[in-house]
Amino acid sequence: MQNKIHTAQSAFEHWSSTSFQERSLLLQKLKTLLEEHKMRYASLMTKEMGKPITQSLAEIDKCGWLCDYYAEHAKSFLKNQYIQTEAEESFISYEPLGVLLGVMPWNFPYWQVFRFVIPAIMAGNTVMVKHASNVPESAEAIESLFLESGFPLGIYQNLPISSNKVGELIAHPLIRAVSLTGSEKAGSAVAMQAGKYLKKTLLELGGSNAFIVCEDADLEQAIAVAVNARMQNSGQSCIAAKRFLVHERIFDTFVDKYKLAVSQLRTGDPMNPETQIGSLARVDLAVDLEKQVQQSVAMGAQVVLGGRRKEAFFEPTILIDVTPEMPVFKEETFGPVAALVSFETIDEAIALSNQSDFGLGVSVFTSNILQIKSRVRDFNEGAVFINDLVKSDPRLPFGGVKKSGYGRELSREGILEFVNCKTVVIR
Ligand code: NDP
Repeated sequence: MQNKIHTAQSAFEHWSSTSFQERSLLLQKLKTLLEEHKMRYASLMTKEMGKPITQSLAEIDKCGWLCDYYAEHAKSFLKNQYIQTEAEESFISYEPLGVLLGVMPWNFPYWQVFRFVIPAIMAGNTVMVKHASNVPESAEAIESLFLESGFPLGIYQNLPISSNKVGELIAHPLIRAVSLTGSEKAGSAVAMQAGKYLKKTLLELGGSNAFIVCEDADLEQAIAVAVNARMQNSGQSCIAAKRFLVHERIFDTFVDKYKLAVSQLRTGDPMNPETQIGSLARVDLAVDLEKQVQQSVAMGAQVVLGGRRKEAFFEPTILIDVTPEMPVFKEETFGPVAALVSFETIDEAIALSNQSDFGLGVSVFTSNILQIKSRVRDFNEGAVFINDLVKSDPRLPFGGVKKSGYGRELSREGILEFVNCKTVVIR
């Protein structure tokens, strides 16, 4: 590990002084290779964590979009910013920090890594990535991709280590900062260690997004989006809608239509392009989800669809009569389980939405856009999407508040997380 850290540091010493043009050219090469071999990368991901193949292919495409975005914009995001003061000249110079550590999850094995790495290296940093232990081949494939694209040795290194080695890495003086996407538990462990050594952290943790359907919403549109918002990636997404808050007057109709739409999702072999929902990535994740559902049922929730597990497969599930005390409302459910709650007024819906330890995002479906727009500040969230599902987009900042973590990825905000904003004053 020591050798790898030193390789990353010596690579940094050269890489940090390369031009944006040079970095962009390599990034474009990487994107070309990604596209050329996208079936290989997508199949690997599907094999390792069970994502339906069409969704794996879409993930690879999104990584390509991210490459294009930063190849085009990194230079302008990081150009000196001049600020008028009484000095002769004053400006901000955006400079890389050095070697960064990424601790990454398995749910979007390529996208999560790219989201951290691409802006970081475009800013002139070098990275070392400890990927999740259940996606080792994807982890290796990403490292090879960087090397095959012509990135010098040490710009991107894969660390096939167990999580109990991460602490040592954080303590190393050459590691300047850490980005983690994963559970609260892992985030807290990494942040504690980083705090001890005064290293910056960026944390993208869990979420329990609400999906609010107002009485005046276009119900057909809301249902179609609600299926995707909860069931995409077999429900294993931090920004998935997990708590569905539906106006009481349309609640029964919503339940009937949602049940019908969810029951039509095709399950089966994840390599089959027709498959829409697969098994969870690991049996233990499905067992945890089963416990959350069973405890909620014991507390009075009613299963209107699904609810059963077979090994790592968990049936697409809809629960009603859910209350805020139940695990399916209070905790993050990382699988295809939708918890439905009715509300009477928009104030009540906002209060329920905020009644969560998490704060990643919220979707609101309504035809009264102005009303919700005027209430945006009342949502304690990293994102508010009106008439759409919460999704990440290279052009927009992504991140949460409360136990969903801190810091932002993507957009200009994302690239500024791992730079030294150096103040320069010339009198
Ligand atoms: P983890 O948070 O345990 O795993 C994510 C990454 O963190 C992996 O690389 C893991 O390594 C690493 N890690 C775990 N513990 C530590 C630690 N103490 N110090 C340093 N690194 C650590 O997620 P799980 O796979 O166990 O999933 C559990 C739950 O976490 C899910 O059900 C979901 O609720 C949430 N989660 C949220 C994600 C998100 O996108 N926000 C993504 C994944 C999970 P290793 O694999 O070797 O343990």
